[in-house]
Amino acid sequence: MSATNDTVHDRFERARTELSPVQAAAAVALAASLGFALLFVQDPLFHDAMHNFRHAAGVTCH
Ligand SMILES: [Zn+2]
Repeated sequence: MSATNDTVHDRFERARTELSPVQAAAAVALAASLGFALLFVQDPLFHDAMHNFRHAAGVTCH
């Protein structure tokens, strides 16, 4: 049964190696979008747009 365990372990290792660049890219994209949002978060229209977007995404805020 050790062979099966090794195969599963190798599969996890491979998946993690392939996922890391994607996660890094996602983190960079998230940080960039947050920074971009902060530039306009004081705009009431943008604030409403984000508010509507949260509701459209199913996030309750009030
Ligand atoms: Zn709301």
